[in-house]
Amino acid sequence: MTCRHHSCETTASYALAGLLSALLAETPLGRDYTVHAVPIVDIDGVERGDQGKYRAPHDHNRDYVDGNALSSSLSPIYAATAAIMGYVRSLSGPLVAALDLHCPYRWGNGNDTPFFVGDPEAIDPALSSLLDRLSAATDRRPESLAFDPEDGVQGFDGQAAAAPTFRSFVDEEGADLAATLEVPYVGTAADPVTPASARASAVRSRRRWASGPSESS
Ligand SMILES: [Zn+2]
Repeated sequence: MTCRHHSCETTASYALAGLLSALLAETPLGRDYTVHAVPIVDIDGVERGDQGKYRAPHDHNRDYVDGNALSSSLSPIYAATAAIMGYVRSLSGPLVAALDLHCPYRWGNGNDTPFFVGDPEAIDPALSSLLDRLSAATDRRPESLAFDPEDGVQGFDGQAAAAPTFRSFVDEEGADLAATLEVPYVGTAADPVTPASARASAVRSRRRWASGPSESS
């Protein structure tokens, strides 16, 4: 799991803290699997108070480049990115899942509830399975941010589709599931983002979905 490829995306850090606590405290996953986490990828940007995304010539989540058939001179420009690439490639076991946590646009237009990045019309089977599991966990965490499976996968940031992101890197490295989760900055009036709700957002879904989706508020 990685977080803060974009240094300003603070609420994602709370969600990562909640995920790590849950894995360590209560799940067989924490016992049966080794969890690797890089909580702050762009630590220089965080310390400087940068926004970070789209920093020229490219930001940390556009830095997962390698030499290819045309050029052997491509390499990451950030030490953290190069270190992560080397670390992932040094792992001996299978890469079961990789999750990169981000924040979306500021608010509105679907940016106020958590969602995975992708094409909602062509959801990867592994991600679909994860969505089903999250849906099945409904309402166990009433203090958490709501996760709406109807809006659980959204197209976001068209530039990312072909970009050398962490998600595309681990996908190429053979991860069974490689996903990007966007944690809202603000939330909704009924479901605001707070440190506590973001930590707990791993994850519940709203009771109303049990009887079918309704108009978004
Ligand atoms: Zn981001």
